Amino acid sequence: MNDYILISTLNDFIFCPYSIYLHNVYMSTDEDLYHAVPQVRGTVAHKATDSKSSSTQKDVILALPVFSERFHLMGKIDVYKRKEKKLVERKYQLKGIFQGQIYQLWAQFFCMREMGYIVESFAFYEISTNRMIPISLPSSEKECQFEKFVSDFLNYDPSSPIKINPNKCSHCIYCNLCDKTDLENVYS
Ligand code: SF4
Repeated sequence: MNDYILISTLNDFIFCPYSIYLHNVYMSTDEDLYHAVPQVRGTVAHKATDSKSSSTQKDVILALPVFSERFHLMGKIDVYKRKEKKLVERKYQLKGIFQGQIYQLWAQFFCMREMGYIVESFAFYEISTNRMIPISLPSSEKECQFEKFVSDFLNYDPSSPIKINPNKCSHCIYCNLCDKTDLENVYS
């Protein structure tokens, strides 16, 4: 594993570490090979932010690159509202909020804090329902939990056995390309 972790891979690591390997193998190929509906929507949801076109307000920072030396993290935030000191992650649709998505938000927060920004609150914004979903800031105990998680990621051994979970596999965008299962994914 590289010394620095992409924030966008934290959720993938919880879902299945092998999916990160497959992503790296297939990332340079035709994205139509594996991109499923949720990923296409996610890309569209972030397009306006990445192109810095979703807000013209001066107090809003979009797509800011962030990093943390302490946690060996790098990535990009979606939206930072300077006046409110609020960090927002946009999602097209949120059927539930998973631990990996919360870790991604925490990761952005820790990066911003290390870079000198003040973040007093954060939230997910669900585009499809125009809904803001507040998320608590991590306590010091949660910060230790996150530190342990990052350490597990950094020390992950790709040759260690993979636990196959058919339910996960059938919802995995790499399912049709994965040598660990013969399942088809639900997006086919
Ligand atoms: S298909 Fe299953 S084993 Fe393969 S990467 Fe996806 S979740 Fe992991």
